[in-house]
Amino acid sequence: MITVVGSINMDLVVGTERFPKQGETVLGNLHTTIPGGKGANQAVAAARLGGEVAMIGAVGTDPFGDELVTNLENEGVDVSRVKRVEGPSGIANILLSEGDNRIIVVPGANHQLTPEDIDHSEAAIAASDLVVLQLEIPIPSVLRTLQIARRNQVPVILNPAPADGFSPEFLQYEPILTPNESEAAMMFGENWERALEAHPNRLIVTLGQNGARYYDGDRHIRVPGIRVNAVDTTGAGDTFNGALAVALAEKMPLEDAIRFANAAASLSVEQFGAQGGMPGRGETVERMK
Ligand code: ADP
Repeated sequence: MITVVGSINMDLVVGTERFPKQGETVLGNLHTTIPGGKGANQAVAAARLGGEVAMIGAVGTDPFGDELVTNLENEGVDVSRVKRVEGPSGIANILLSEGDNRIIVVPGANHQLTPEDIDHSEAAIAASDLVVLQLEIPIPSVLRTLQIARRNQVPVILNPAPADGFSPEFLQYEPILTPNESEAAMMFGENWERALEAHPNRLIVTLGQNGARYYDGDRHIRVPGIRVNAVDTTGAGDTFNGALAVALAEKMPLEDAIRFANAAASLSVEQFGAQGGMPGRGETVERMK
């Protein structure tokens, strides 16, 4: 069982030919609502790849809350620990124009996932093969999850995104960290490559189309990405993390697990949308050949 402790958002996507200036109104040419949030995305990625996945999170009492829970259920994710709280669900307001984007995230219900909620889920965390975390929920709740997982000897993947929520305090719980290059630079400075050797087999930096790298205690290893025609890289990191979780929960060796994650993420960038592009197990295994 993989337990994802994280955010659940509705993405409100609006396309326009140009962004409005201050005080201006423009007509848009596209509007969709798509389930997202890093936590939910990583849960869906893992479930599609054959993982048995449970989600700990919070949605609001608004209609989005129902839609978000139903979406996770339809993906086979156990939602019995997704709580409903008064008020709105988390949303990401995404403006798209000329290949550029402007995003406002309003955490809403996600910010009501408390350390006490995590305490109440200790038995579920203890029974997990692996826990997956990101930084879109309150940081005290991230910390509590790390503490409980550690106490119960459950390994954790901490995807440190957004990286401004990262605290060096997390390191003492020895999670597997999966920043991209800019997140690694925010966490460890421009010379983040040095940090690889301080965290052997636990700091995996994703490199976009170039794959990912880590230090195995002896050598630096880069696991190459798979060249594809990328149309939308939204959710590449989420797919990578969901896939890595499935592979590590199955006790795949780290290098093979990263190959699996690169393959899954390469499939995801060939399609539009975060969850929209997340692949199944068969096509991912096929791509590794
Ligand atoms: P994020 O999406 O979090 O910014 P990256 O850009 O490093 O992180 O991408 C995460 C993973 O997605 C990479 O390690 C790689 O496996 C895959 N990936 C991303 N972009 C591409 C691409 N253009 N082609 C193939 N794989 C990609």
